[in-house]
Amino acid sequence: MSELLPWQSKSLSRLQARIEGGALSHALLIEGRDARSAEMFAGMLTKTLVCQQEVLGGCGECRSCELGLAETNPDRWAIKREDEAQIKVESIRELIEWSQKTTQIGRVKVAVIEGCERMNRNAQNALLKLLEEPTRETYLILVTADPHRLLATVRSRCERVRLGQPSDEEALNWVKRRLGDSDHHLASEALAFAHGEPLAAIEAISNGLAERLVEIDAALCAWFESEISSLELGRKAMDLAEPKDIYTLLALRLRESVRTEVRPAHEVKASSGIASQLQGKSSWQCRLEGLALVENAWSQSKTMTGLNQALHLEATLINLERVLS
Ligand SMILES: [Zn+2]
Repeated sequence: MSELLPWQSKSLSRLQARIEGGALSHALLIEGRDARSAEMFAGMLTKTLVCQQEVLGGCGECRSCELGLAETNPDRWAIKREDEAQIKVESIRELIEWSQKTTQIGRVKVAVIEGCERMNRNAQNALLKLLEEPTRETYLILVTADPHRLLATVRSRCERVRLGQPSDEEALNWVKRRLGDSDHHLASEALAFAHGEPLAAIEAISNGLAERLVEIDAALCAWFESEISSLELGRKAMDLAEPKDIYTLLALRLRESVRTEVRPAHEVKASSGIASQLQGKSSWQCRLEGLALVENAWSQSKTMTGLNQALHLEATLINLERVLS
């Protein structure tokens, strides 16, 4: 998927003006809260850079654009996010070797490193050499959702481009348009679950996760009403989703229920039924304590090796029940 996301168009136009003026830095660090959105932006920037007509997003007609579309353009180099869990020094050496070759088709060469925070220390040190002695006509675009995992020396040698987020309304409209139907509820639930990231929301809807989370929500309601036990809720949730999604959903519902207490009513979006149900059930102090408990349990679930996830979730739910009652 490669397209210009509407909320990124201003940032891209600003960079395009700099390309036209010959004033764009040779090393850019594209930072976005959502990795996929940032990668899309990097894709559009690359197309703009390699296009012989310098058209925003590429003209689609010149030789560079044609090859670019087929991803066989020798002037482009990419380390994809799905390629490897860790980027090792060998990959960076190959990139440096490529950067020293002359351009084959267009005026410039462009290398993109998606998920650049995956570079290990040696890889980052090797990259520093390229950043310190940039090759003429070569642009290096680093993309990340987690810039703090990069060495400070790498960050400081790049021009940082921090991508903006869509407004809640813009995000919801985009997701609904993309879905091609008007399932307002599912779109807005998926967005809340994805912390307002439209691409992550679309993914949750397309892979069926959003609908399964609605089922877990229903089980949560029944649990709050003491219609099912913590054991039953835990089993049902584990049948429907991964631990990370279950803890994210629990934390989301608790956070929603606390948010209304600390913000003026007009700033708060309509909360889910569960948030209101929680508000009627326990004090905000208890819900805040419950949120800390869930976040702590999720952190243990991620980091403890050999943990029985089903038992861990069940214990968390029993503790949460105690805190909330
Ligand atoms: Zn073109």
